[in-house]
Amino acid sequence: MSRLWPLALLLLIDIAAASEDRLPPVEMKPVQVSSHAYYVSGATGVATDNYGFVSNSAFVVTTEGIVVFDTLGTPALGARLLAAIRSISDAPIRRIYISHYHADHMYGNQAFSGTGAEIIASDGAKTYLEGDVAQLRLQERRVSLSPWVNESTRIIEPDRYLQNEERFTLGGVDIRVVDVGSAHSEGDLVLFVENDGVLFSGDIIFAERIPFLGTSSSAEWLDVLEQMEQAEVSAIVPGHGPAAGNPGEIVSLTKSYLSFVRESMRQAVEDWVPFDEAYEATDWGDFIEYPAFLEANRRNAYGIYLSLEQESLKDQ
Ligand SMILES: [Zn+2]
Repeated sequence: MSRLWPLALLLLIDIAAASEDRLPPVEMKPVQVSSHAYYVSGATGVATDNYGFVSNSAFVVTTEGIVVFDTLGTPALGARLLAAIRSISDAPIRRIYISHYHADHMYGNQAFSGTGAEIIASDGAKTYLEGDVAQLRLQERRVSLSPWVNESTRIIEPDRYLQNEERFTLGGVDIRVVDVGSAHSEGDLVLFVENDGVLFSGDIIFAERIPFLGTSSSAEWLDVLEQMEQAEVSAIVPGHGPAAGNPGEIVSLTKSYLSFVRESMRQAVEDWVPFDEAYEATDWGDFIEYPAFLEANRRNAYGIYLSLEQESLKDQ
């Protein structure tokens, strides 16, 4: 019997080493933005850069528990996030709000399955999860983000969907979560840490990079940005890029980009100019230097062109 010990020990060491290997070697250091709010921030690149760590996750730490906002883009990044949270507090993780059900914000859910936290998303996330896109995206990421997204990666659906808004107090901290409707995605949540005047915006704001528009509703998105610009907060943590203190400043790139693409494409649709021609004729100079421009811009413009075409057909 005793002769088996060394073997068992070796096996254990092996398993530990293997699971350690499976964590991506990214820099992930929580940044404190207020008494209770923290975030970790991914690189400014596109979805497959930096082991998939290209988005943000924020969390609220109180004496009675922790609330997490987004879990990052792979289960392994979710595990790194959980460890980062644990470096600050051992309090139970009570709730996980997912700003929107896009891959880069929720594939990390899997790493939190042992915490007993409740996962909550916007009512609009149902539309995304019921369609084909969620599964197609997972298949695509199993290739483009292999081995970090693989055959054992699953989409963990919310335990509960939120409509309108909800407020609660945890460890003396008042938290308000608002469903801003379909803007960047089919359903977007934002979270206010009211005591601290901090807002987690999710992908309503992309700081320092060109946003990914996907299935967004650009007109509604611009409305939400205009409200956010007026928000009386001391800090905003965006879905991508660094946090900032000035709401007007941090929304400006996303807002000016969305307005510009809409304006350029609206002109083209009104004048019956084909997309390719309109795209070539547009001067993209103000945005071309930003990260993700090459990967996202043409597709973004095309998406907006099609949606404006639909709008104009409805008007006739
Ligand atoms: Zn995102």
